[in-house]
Amino acid sequence: MAVSVSGTLLAFDDTDSPDGMCTTYLASLMIEELKDYDLIGLPRLVRLDPNVPWKTRGNAAICLRLGEGTGPSRLCGALPGRMVRYYESGRSVDGRQLLGEASRVLERVAQFDCDKTNPGIVVSDRRPSQGLYWDAVREVVPIGRVERLLKECGAEWRKYKSGRGIIGAASAMAWRPRDRTWEVIAYRHPKVFGKPRRVDPKSVISMDKATRRTFNNYDYESGHIAITPGSPCPILFGIRGDSSAELLRAKDMIEGESPDRWLLFLTNQGTDDHIVRRRICSLRPMDSAEIEAKVVSPPVTIPGKHVILRVSDGDEIDAAFYEPSRSFRQVARALLPGDEVTLYGSVREDRLTLNVEKIHVQKLVKDIRKIHNPACERCGKSMGSMGSGQGYRCKRCGAKAPESAAVSRTFARSIRPGWFEPPVASRRHLHKPLRRMSRVNIDNL
Ligand SMILES: [Zn+2]
Repeated sequence: MAVSVSGTLLAFDDTDSPDGMCTTYLASLMIEELKDYDLIGLPRLVRLDPNVPWKTRGNAAICLRLGEGTGPSRLCGALPGRMVRYYESGRSVDGRQLLGEASRVLERVAQFDCDKTNPGIVVSDRRPSQGLYWDAVREVVPIGRVERLLKECGAEWRKYKSGRGIIGAASAMAWRPRDRTWEVIAYRHPKVFGKPRRVDPKSVISMDKATRRTFNNYDYESGHIAITPGSPCPILFGIRGDSSAELLRAKDMIEGESPDRWLLFLTNQGTDDHIVRRRICSLRPMDSAEIEAKVVSPPVTIPGKHVILRVSDGDEIDAAFYEPSRSFRQVARALLPGDEVTLYGSVREDRLTLNVEKIHVQKLVKDIRKIHNPACERCGKSMGSMGSGQGYRCKRCGAKAPESAAVSRTFARSIRPGWFEPPVASRRHLHKPLRRMSRVNIDNL
């Protein structure tokens, strides 16, 4: 069911390309240029299905609420020459006029040359049904359904090229947070776009250690700074966390080039919203899933140093731990047939393999290995095997012994039950880090 909000919603998506622009940067440009409107509530950065094949980069859409602010306001960003504040509530504005003004900003900066860039922009006084968000974060949603839902809300929209961007825009608009995090993003001066970023790694490590509720800042395993993107986009850095107040302090701890602007977003990053609990038999290509299974055969390392683990919940699937996840593969290597695990991951597009993104090792079997064949009770000589599972027989006197007579030893397991995840550098945007799994969101914006 569509729900009325205070203020007017403006959402857009699919404006970036792999080598420039960034939909979150467009949010800052919108706020900068649409000066006559107040920001109501925080800007929202919503990540959608990470497995859709045509995503440009992180599959992020933006939803802003604009209007005539009432009551107190709070700081949430800075633009050249002014601070950005947001109001808790406000009155809505003329949607058609807002759509016209916002479209002009989008048309000026969207990367129309890129094949994969198909912008969409939506304006509405009501949020579409939240079912749209839950579907779009987990699977491909057809554009026809989105247009029907938008019509029901009385929304207005514009499509560019294929117009696929309205799917993400409408879905971001439909998001009502069940779990949420925040991200503060600092942007570069346009004159240094494309040039190497200057961010002092020591300051990132100090910030990581000085803050308790940020996550995915620094990969200690590879020495990689995770708050800076790898692409030549306008972002200088983005810090994610469970406390918006702490993020505002964290941003000031980063040393290097000074940002041109910054903005605080409410986001669905780090929430596992894309994960659905499933049975192996129901998995389809590109699903993100949580499955409870038993290991059925010992881990195998394949060329490329990926580790494959065969698991079963009645039906079987290969679970892959890829090389870029580095030490995470040690977890798979330490498992034995019979171990019980819960796997989180996504199914590959080409064949049914689960790409593991997190694992909960629930129960471990005893590692009992045969040391040698039993000795004959009559003549004391070592007995011979009669074949796998067939027991033993003495070659000298013909006495027989059962399989269980073999001498075995219990070895210590190299792993304990618990949660394991890949290092910071190989996590996806929606991945809920272990660092926040037992954490309660304490501030409520
Ligand atoms: Zn014997």
